[in-house]
Amino acid sequence: MELKYYKRAGEIAHRALKLALDLVEPEEPVLDLCQRIEEFILNNGGKPAFPVNVSINQVAAHYTATIDDDLLIPKKGIVKVDVGVQVDGYIADTAISIPLDSLQDDLVEAAYRALLAAINVTKPGESLSFIGATIEKTIKAFGLKPIRNLSGHKIDRYTLHAGKSIPNIRAGWGTVKKGEVFAIEPFTTNGAGVVEEGVTVTIFRLRSVKRIRKRSDLNALVEKLWTRYRGLPFAKRWLLEFIPKEDIENTLYELSRHKLIDSYPILIEQGGGLVAQMEDTVILYDENETINLTNSIKLYEEIKYR
Ligand code: MN
Ligand code: MN
Repeated sequence: MELKYYKRAGEIAHRALKLALDLVEPEEPVLDLCQRIEEFILNNGGKPAFPVNVSINQVAAHYTATIDDDLLIPKKGIVKVDVGVQVDGYIADTAISIPLDSLQDDLVEAAYRALLAAINVTKPGESLSFIGATIEKTIKAFGLKPIRNLSGHKIDRYTLHAGKSIPNIRAGWGTVKKGEVFAIEPFTTNGAGVVEEGVTVTIFRLRSVKRIRKRSDLNALVEKLWTRYRGLPFAKRWLLEFIPKEDIENTLYELSRHKLIDSYPILIEQGGGLVAQMEDTVILYDENETINLTNSIKLYEEIKYR
């Protein structure tokens, strides 16, 4: 039964986020943080469904430590840790925001309230636009903005973004249905409410296993990457397992030139605002029961007054 696998993935992801709460502190190297959380996932019977994202302040998402990364957790601001765990392809996706000083408390609290409100209305038959409107209304009540071009998403086996989106504003068509799995992820900001792509890229994804003529080296690598990650995102630093460090940039360029990979640039708040995020993965088990698989909500409640 797939529920069993989803629950296992969710529990490992929850515990990985709990570990992140212990590890995140000023001057901690982001590379150590990512590696320790990914190791924890592997040691506990899961696999990372994507590299651990550690996105700081104006960076909303899609930063993971790169090779020889020397970035440190700053003394002030907000750190978002976004973790994905898969068990046999069943994915749990969850994130928490850690305010490093009290000035950012509202941004995190608003994201938490929005996630809580959204989960409460996510039941079979509910419209995506109503869930989005619930998130938008909750965030605006704090005098903050939701990020309108980021959204939650339906999850399928080995597929992180399976079509339907849960917007963070009143938008979109369609409804959520019984049996479906969704990541719900409100983002709050005191900036413009829009993110744009930055130049830094540390995360990639294989699009297909199409063969390239006369490039047995690339074909062999693609084969290995597919076996390991399927179409799920991987980090540049993860390639060290397959190819020498000095070949990585060129290999990524070649894979991209042959349209075999997608890249995920970091996403930055357009108005230079600080960004907070909360995310849980839920399964619409039946009409009366939506199961929160990852429960970052509970972790936030635990740290709120500590
Ligand atoms: Mn996520
Ligand atoms: Mn997500």
